[in-house]
Amino acid sequence: MTLATLKDVLDQALTRHFAVGGLVCLGWEDMRAYALAAEAEGLPVILQAGPSCRKHTPLPVLGKMFRTLAESVSVPVVAHLDHGYTLEECREALDSGFTSLMFDGSRLPLAENIAQTAQIAEMAHRAGISCEGEIGFVGYSDGETSEGTEPEDAAAFARDSGVDAMAISVGNVHLQQNHEGGLDEARIRAIEAVTDIPLVIHGGSGVPLAQRRALARGSRICKFNIGTELRMAFGTALRAALAQDPERFDRVQILSAVEPQLVTAARAALRTLGPE
Ligand SMILES: [Zn+2]
Repeated sequence: MTLATLKDVLDQALTRHFAVGGLVCLGWEDMRAYALAAEAEGLPVILQAGPSCRKHTPLPVLGKMFRTLAESVSVPVVAHLDHGYTLEECREALDSGFTSLMFDGSRLPLAENIAQTAQIAEMAHRAGISCEGEIGFVGYSDGETSEGTEPEDAAAFARDSGVDAMAISVGNVHLQQNHEGGLDEARIRAIEAVTDIPLVIHGGSGVPLAQRRALARGSRICKFNIGTELRMAFGTALRAALAQDPERFDRVQILSAVEPQLVTAARAALRTLGPE
């Protein structure tokens, strides 16, 4: 049993100078591949269920799946809710066995974001689990534009919300496909100067690999969320598996053929963040 909280794995990452992958899960086959990848690399992993995952599969089922996988490996596994938008959603994740809740109040005014996040963090801590919040706004490729995190807002948010980790907007953008979004290191250092809690980068797929590696080892960024590059690996492997045998129709056979490539892609992603 290696179920862990977000705080457990981020504390370890800070001390050992690396970052943990927050891998975006959409179903059993990808989350199992990510757990196997973490086991093979000897690194912790954060399995995360975001809005589209929850739309597809109910939270109580996802909680059970994450916990079952945590029991099957020897590395720490965090069962994480990604972008919870309401108290009710966060409470349902808690009741479903999640060990970490991200509340996204980044579209709210600062004071309201702090107040609502503090309520979720208190609920999480009372239950012995962790909470991540977001300050500034991380935009979406071909969608809403970002609003960079102001260091003074980050300091107030870290101090008053009680979160265990803080997602920041420093040039990162969700859903980028080509590692094209370099991060603003001056802004990261300015945020680090005014707070000491672990920092989180959403949209990690968009960050150039060399910068991802350097910041994982040389900054307080302890969690990179990685979704798009793994979903792309899944799509490529799935197309190849179907093309290889046009007669194949069984879901388990098809997805079993996809799994090795998904494990390889997840291992590579975790390795870019791992310790020297
Ligand atoms: Zn995100």
